[in-house]
Amino acid sequence: MPIHEKSLIDPDRLLSAEKLVIDGIDVSGHWNTTILPRTVPDYDPEFQKKIRALPGGENVHRCWQCGSCTNACTMYAINTDFNPRYWIYCTNLGLTSEIVKDKDIIWQCVSCNKCTNICPKDVRPEGVMKALAHWLEEEGHTTRSNPTLFDEEFTRQCLERGRIEDSEVMFNFFKKTGEDAIELMKKGWLGVFIARMNNLPLLREKRILPFIARLPIVGPLKMGWAMLFKPRTRSWGRTGEVLRAYVDEQKRKAQAHG
Ligand code: SF4
Ligand code: SF4
Repeated sequence: MPIHEKSLIDPDRLLSAEKLVIDGIDVSGHWNTTILPRTVPDYDPEFQKKIRALPGGENVHRCWQCGSCTNACTMYAINTDFNPRYWIYCTNLGLTSEIVKDKDIIWQCVSCNKCTNICPKDVRPEGVMKALAHWLEEEGHTTRSNPTLFDEEFTRQCLERGRIEDSEVMFNFFKKTGEDAIELMKKGWLGVFIARMNNLPLLREKRILPFIARLPIVGPLKMGWAMLFKPRTRSWGRTGEVLRAYVDEQKRKAQAHG
């Protein structure tokens, strides 16, 4: 028996007599509260299927509403409106409008997977959160997120050339997100980037040549070279074609499910 969320109960469907005595027992006020039945006309009977077709959402139908996920959830501890059990409940009933109401919260899942570890039915609520965020994006309820834009650029390069070039991925990602690379550099981003490229443990291990190869002079030069000449994996042509055909086929299947 699912636990009904308060937000699904309209206040005008709650009835309670102020003064009521039954068989000599005073059940006035909250003791006699009744919820009037309701009809939900705006549900999508295919919604559960759509979410199950998305990566992470496969097991959403298994939920038995125990609430352990919400209890363990990192985000729920900060904001009680972040409620995986509730969204899973709405998904299984096809209550898309309830999901859309929370479009600005669902993406906040931090993927800590506490919910997934505790779930007794292997629903993988973290995956469901991702699938719901994905659906919201696909349906245009939210703008395309930075991870989606990054994935697109990353995948494009993989499919085209069988490898990625870090500098090109970053450059095109910033272009798509409208980030100003110069501003990021001014904010110290470049410093962090260089620090990451400089592999100090290599120096401590006296591996001088690998260290020099990662200096902020050689590294950017190599990256600039790669941006210009775009190296590709040897004999990638046919493999890339097959992979692209496979990805297109999967997209068509997902759209057919949608
Ligand atoms: S822990 Fe699993 S079974 Fe329990 S409410 Fe969450 S998703 Fe459903
Ligand atoms: S993975 Fe997301 S939904 Fe699950 S516990 Fe962590 S923040 Fe909550």
